[in-house]
Amino acid sequence: MKKAASFALGCKVNQYESEAIAELFAEKGYEIVGIDEEADVYVINTCTVTNFGDKKSRQLIRKVKRQNENAIVAVVGCYAQTAPKELMEIAGVNLVIGTKDRAQIVEMVEQYDRANGVENHVSDIMKERVFEPLSIQKLANRTRAYLKIQDGCSQYCSYCIIPYARGPIRSREPQEVVAEVKRLAENGFKEVVLTGIHVASYGKDRRDTSLLDILKQVHEVEGIERIRFSSIEPNVVTEEFAQTMAALPKVCDHFHLSLQSGCDKTLKEMNRKYDTEKYRQAAATLRKYLPKVALTTDIIVGFPGETEEDFRESYAFAEEIGFAKIHVFPYSPKRGTPAAARKDQLLNAVKAERSHTLIQLSDKMAAEFLVDAVGTDAEVLYERAVGDGIYEGHTTNYMKVHGRSEVDLTNRICKTHITRAEGEMLFGDAEV
Ligand code: SF4
Repeated sequence: MKKAASFALGCKVNQYESEAIAELFAEKGYEIVGIDEEADVYVINTCTVTNFGDKKSRQLIRKVKRQNENAIVAVVGCYAQTAPKELMEIAGVNLVIGTKDRAQIVEMVEQYDRANGVENHVSDIMKERVFEPLSIQKLANRTRAYLKIQDGCSQYCSYCIIPYARGPIRSREPQEVVAEVKRLAENGFKEVVLTGIHVASYGKDRRDTSLLDILKQVHEVEGIERIRFSSIEPNVVTEEFAQTMAALPKVCDHFHLSLQSGCDKTLKEMNRKYDTEKYRQAAATLRKYLPKVALTTDIIVGFPGETEEDFRESYAFAEEIGFAKIHVFPYSPKRGTPAAARKDQLLNAVKAERSHTLIQLSDKMAAEFLVDAVGTDAEVLYERAVGDGIYEGHTTNYMKVHGRSEVDLTNRICKTHITRAEGEMLFGDAEV
């Protein structure tokens, strides 16, 4: 039996797609093996969000070729889409496929003729208007499933290459989304995370649905008990949005509300489509309807031209909003983007220092958020055993819990009395 390995670098969307690609090979009779094992076919789903992502992709290509020099190596994903020629020059690459036509990948691999050298299947993604149907059927032994509902981005943030890698926004057919959620529920999943390149744009390219519509439909699927979004933006948070979230009991009270900077000048230069006032309103609206909501976010530090004062403003805004966690990214210039072409790049040492300062704030706020939960009862979805009678899971607002129980809690939702907080974790006793 032939062996295939499918591996994703980068984001949850890539991971979802790589699982779907593995299933396509499995359906055609391939044995699916890990990326570190010897295989006949390696499919590498590349990431290009930073230049470091490109480097990791190139390293992985060389590594798998060393594992089996006769293997067919197919390179797909964002880096392949934006720089196919660069990838074709790497010794060992056989097919370059990009971010579309992956549904035909098994056929492309099987029809591949080494005599023709490297094949380039990358086509113009900017003209793509239809969501490519790739789906996941099986996934075993897990509690949380990431579900891709959307592709593409039309925001053109000045530091980001992704709109060129993924093309314009395309929303998945609502019936397909619901059908996949039903399959996941049948396979025992209790939680789904609605994922995409820019989830907030779901439905904007269609007349028959919207983000709230699809959410309501997913909410009706029996067996699914929790729903999350991978990330949203302040512009989608209206009174109606927050009211709907509060009225749908399966929607978790945790939102990753993208910020990127708490300084209006920097937000403008980043070409983000909101300002701090809009963000403040969005956070307040969510908190009005979901008082225990956890807000997490991403912030970039050291964007070109960010002065010490701008950074202080961004820091103060983050402190004012109060996050359960901030993912801090030192700005990394991505070639091909307007921000990378700016002359006023900051020194790495300045970025590292600002990063450190903001991470300290994040840690302080995260600890306060956890301490507030001590002494309360939380609904925890347990994912796995981590010790004798100890199970790990997450609350609805995404705090990690180690719960004690004499019975197996895997894939069960249990009320848990939180007794203490330590590090990034809560501890408690589960009621069964
Ligand atoms: S919203 Fe901005 S950061 Fe996010 S994928 Fe689109 S362009 Fe990139």
